[in-house]
Amino acid sequence: MNSYIETKDILKKYNIVANKKLGQNFLINDEVIDNIIKASNVNKNDLIIEIGPGLGTLTKRLLDNAGKVVCIELDTRMINILNERFKFYNNFELINEDVLKVDLHKLIKDNKNSNILNVKIVANLPYYITTPIIMKLLEDKLNIESITVMVQKEVADRLVDVPGGKNSGAITYAINYYTKPQKIIDVLNTSFIPAPEVNSSVIKLNVLNKPSVEVADEELLFKIIKIAFMQKRKTLLNALTNGKLASKEQIERMLTDLKIDLKIRGEKLTLEDFAKISDYVSKN
Ligand code: SAM
Repeated sequence: MNSYIETKDILKKYNIVANKKLGQNFLINDEVIDNIIKASNVNKNDLIIEIGPGLGTLTKRLLDNAGKVVCIELDTRMINILNERFKFYNNFELINEDVLKVDLHKLIKDNKNSNILNVKIVANLPYYITTPIIMKLLEDKLNIESITVMVQKEVADRLVDVPGGKNSGAITYAINYYTKPQKIIDVLNTSFIPAPEVNSSVIKLNVLNKPSVEVADEELLFKIIKIAFMQKRKTLLNALTNGKLASKEQIERMLTDLKIDLKIRGEKLTLEDFAKISDYVSKN
């Protein structure tokens, strides 16, 4: 049965109306599901953590291919449906919780065994909390190989851009610090029920063994990037001064010492440039 008919049937059987506040747009395009499965390269040695399984469309394909699938779903209405649908799978586990509150280190530790070699995150994310979820996955420094997720196209373009690129924002730097990002496929809004207002993309974040640049104080690095992007139309000098990183004279001296143009805007800087600034501030 194709996922469009399956989804319609389940919605009718359980009398479910999608909850917009929870970002519920159910995937009904089998080709897109094939692409997600292929891109995540899911296999029997994988522990897959799926965020927001919803009615279980993607979950079913993950269960057929992975060693173990642990799903985290906030909407209690989905819990009965998923438990009923996957009762014959012994590699299925479901957690009824807000993903932002789940201790993912513990979850991974509890599910690691000799058959599990890799941990991967796969999800059609709820769009209202895309950024907090991705940042949690990265900042928690989980021992995971990759994150393959559907997000809004506009967000995807920002996440996979190079730092300093035309779509880049503060988050682009964080993504490129922790991962090597890649766009997998653009997805039309007609691939979901109900159709969201915007188009989407599947992206894959290949998590690096160690961050792409070395920096003494990671927190300071991201604080500086945030300040620079809060006023991205201003020069870096003015943005950092207004953000009270230091006095204008001190910032001028720092940029001169680091051979960074005093007129440059923060959005033009590379991750290495920000790392240099961060290390300079740490030392002085
Ligand atoms: N995976 C399903 C699919 O592809 O059809 C549903 C994806 S839908 C875009 C997002 C899912 O995330 C919904 O099932 C929603 O209930 C769930 N969700 C929303 N907020 C959540 C949260 N904070 N924690 C866990 N799941 C959440």
